[in-house]
Amino acid sequence: MPKILVLPGDGIGVEVTNVSLDVLKTVGEKHKIQFDFETALFGGCSIDAYGVPITDEVLKKAKSSDAVLLGAVGGPKWDNLKYGIRPERGLLAIRKELDAFANLRPAIVYSALGDASSLKREIVEGVDIMVVRELTGGIYFGTPRGIEHLSNGEEKGVNTLVYTTSEIERIARMAFGIARKRRKRLTSIDKANILEVMELWRRTVTRIGKEEFPDVELDHLYVDNAAMQLIRRPKSFDVILADNMFGDILSDEAAQLTGSLGMLPSASIGHGGAIYEPVHGSAPDIAGKDIANPIASVLTSAMMLKYSLNLDQAAEEVENAVKTVLEKGYRTADIHQEGMKRVGCREMGRLIVEEVKKL
Ligand code: NAD
Repeated sequence: MPKILVLPGDGIGVEVTNVSLDVLKTVGEKHKIQFDFETALFGGCSIDAYGVPITDEVLKKAKSSDAVLLGAVGGPKWDNLKYGIRPERGLLAIRKELDAFANLRPAIVYSALGDASSLKREIVEGVDIMVVRELTGGIYFGTPRGIEHLSNGEEKGVNTLVYTTSEIERIARMAFGIARKRRKRLTSIDKANILEVMELWRRTVTRIGKEEFPDVELDHLYVDNAAMQLIRRPKSFDVILADNMFGDILSDEAAQLTGSLGMLPSASIGHGGAIYEPVHGSAPDIAGKDIANPIASVLTSAMMLKYSLNLDQAAEEVENAVKTVLEKGYRTADIHQEGMKRVGCREMGRLIVEEVKKL
């Protein structure tokens, strides 16, 4: 029985995770798989209950689960807390605990949503990109970090961008491996013209490609150029490899190609386990209104079925159910267009469940 730790988190995290659980239960029943779901507090709600965004007990449970299904964390209520106990620190802690060093973010433009993008249909239709983002290193974790008071009355803020050879090697291998199973093209992102760390990044990625993946075509782009090319010629990208910060930014840009953050799933995979989470945050502006798009979370669950539980067919059924519901013209507010049928979060979930049953 697959053991899944469910951490809905805050805001719309709770709403969209509820939909995912319904979809997973339905597809499980079809395939005679019973999931062992355990739900726990995480993020702002954990701070309210225990004073920390994630307790040691929950971290331990995460480690002993087959997979962790996350909603989203954060919200204005916790915005002014110290960095050390903010909801987002819980995300960083669980990724670190599970050594989830690779974040996989697919950006696929569904034909039915070709007009939902802010770019022209002919630019985005057929886009199928996998962004592989390094997740446990770089400037988000580097030390020294902090804000100090200077004797002249000013303050000084410091963060450190740091990568070792082995950190770059393992994420490069992951990205090359994924590219090998797709269209065999990898674009590595850096800023090697300015930053020494990135010079090491480019040199290491090039060496791994040459020695271990000669069949994968590799090219390099400076991050500023990549940001432009991603909206100019998105179809030319297959797999994009980036460090923690550049990957964070570019994957959100890729999100916009698809029309909405509400459509984007992600997986964070490492040696200690795997975490599945939609790319979006807790969306406090729409939380509790039953208008959030649950599709990112549902597609996240499909990634979990595929990558952690090896249930490829069940994953495909969930993906196809989403596609069918979109083709039938149902849309949540974030992807709604004239002539389409506007539905809320729960109703979108119900429609997907119905399609899963039919497939
Ligand atoms: P956000 O992703 O929560 O929202 C950005 C915009 O996209 C908002 O207008 C929101 O309404 C919309 N949106 C996001 N997901 C949607 C969905 N499923 N359906 C429809 N619309 C959707 O980012 P933000 O506003 O910058 O951050 C809000 C809070 O979430 C902050 O506290 C932030 O720190 C946190 N956050 C958490 C995560 C995470 O848990 N992984 C990621 C990003 C931000």
